[in-house]
Amino acid sequence: MASERCGARTRAGGACRSPAVSGRRRCRMHGGAKGSGAPSGNSNALKSGLYTAERQAMRLKMGVLMRAGKKLLRDI
Ligand SMILES: [Zn+2]
Repeated sequence: MASERCGARTRAGGACRSPAVSGRRRCRMHGGAKGSGAPSGNSNALKSGLYTAERQAMRLKMGVLMRAGKKLLRDI
């Protein structure tokens, strides 16, 4: 599989097609650089707790569970 693209909006209006830094979603030019961004666990921008890494992981798990459940129902 090709590496993930950065996808940040460029000044030309398109999407940046540089490969994202591994482990990040943006290229080096768009915030993917080492030391860029907040350290994990930082809560400066925390408002409701709706989008914390914990919740996002939970959401992911729920999606997998739902899919498994639906498959089960189909198989019966
Ligand atoms: Zn980029």
